[in-house]
Amino acid sequence: MTYSKAQELSIELIKRKSITPHDLGCQQLLSNLLQEVGFECHSIQIGETTNLIAHIGQGKPHLMFLGHTDVVSEGNGADWSYDPFSATIVEEDGVKMLYGRGSADMKASDAAMAVALYDFVKSHKNFKGTLSYLITSNEEGDGKGGIKDMCKYLQEHNLVPDYCIVGEPSSAHILGDEIKVGRRGSLSAIIKVIGTQGHVAYPHLVNNPIHLASKLITKLIQDLDQGSQYFPKTSFQVTNIKAGSGTENLVPNTCEFMCNWRFNDLQSPQSIEDKVKGYIQELNLNCELKFILNGLPFLAKDEKLIKIVQDSVYAVTHQTPTLSTSGGTSDGRFIAPLGTHVIECGLVSKTIHKIDEKVCFEDIEKLKHIFEKIIKLTLAKS
Ligand SMILES: [Zn+2]
Repeated sequence: MTYSKAQELSIELIKRKSITPHDLGCQQLLSNLLQEVGFECHSIQIGETTNLIAHIGQGKPHLMFLGHTDVVSEGNGADWSYDPFSATIVEEDGVKMLYGRGSADMKASDAAMAVALYDFVKSHKNFKGTLSYLITSNEEGDGKGGIKDMCKYLQEHNLVPDYCIVGEPSSAHILGDEIKVGRRGSLSAIIKVIGTQGHVAYPHLVNNPIHLASKLITKLIQDLDQGSQYFPKTSFQVTNIKAGSGTENLVPNTCEFMCNWRFNDLQSPQSIEDKVKGYIQELNLNCELKFILNGLPFLAKDEKLIKIVQDSVYAVTHQTPTLSTSGGTSDGRFIAPLGTHVIECGLVSKTIHKIDEKVCFEDIEKLKHIFEKIIKLTLAKS
């Protein structure tokens, strides 16, 4: 059986055990292909992380594809039905599935993006604007030497894109059922409530910080908003509580809890911090506060780009994708603050990071066609 270029490249990539932050030559395979049609490719090594930036053309509009070649560990390889780095193809209920760590997240998508760029440039010698391809090998880890450094590089080299398609697995059940047009922000806090320690039998002499913290938490779990056009309501979760020494007759001195907000575009880190401080004042508490901002929310506000991606998905899959902002964060959150409209569009996410990660083999070629269509609708001269 003959496989398409994108399918073959997917297999080659999966066979490389490129666990974060290692790339193991994956990006070389991708840049070899792009160089063939004239892309200028730069490999940028920062510490242990390898990054590839490839670009062609000039001026606006600038459309970038973003991905990563690193994968999370396979866990216990013996738990897998097939060797996680063998890229085994198995027919299940009449559908060919490609097994392997990184098949869904996101090597097959890296391959589909690269081949789409290759095919488009090969058949369109003349197009308007700029095409680029940015791949890092440290997306699943701490990101050191990865996207943040590459954002600086893009700014320094005048390569900040107008539009960015992140090939992360955005589909929920079948290819094209969902695309992500934004992501919620993430803010964590560590809140230490200070009370007065003492003997449990003398309540008038103690000020129980656990009781005080529970009053504060009761306030914090109230809804901050009801959500906006594209975003669900801001959510709040307590993730950890620490208090007491394990002694039953002792009221402790402090109660410390950890919590996180996934916030929408109606909130800001400052508005949430102000709200918390307001409650603390209202309850007359003595607290130590530490806020940790993990990411700001972003939303692709460009209706034209959203329509281009929706139309491209429909043309190939006959699915009109719903526009979602759910789920965790991606490297897109670092590109969006540069003023870029970011959309995530990729394979089905059901098995990512799991034992027996797999993708529908045919979807790889379909995704290649979706990406190629997006490029055509954005850059082809009519
Ligand atoms: Zn990923």
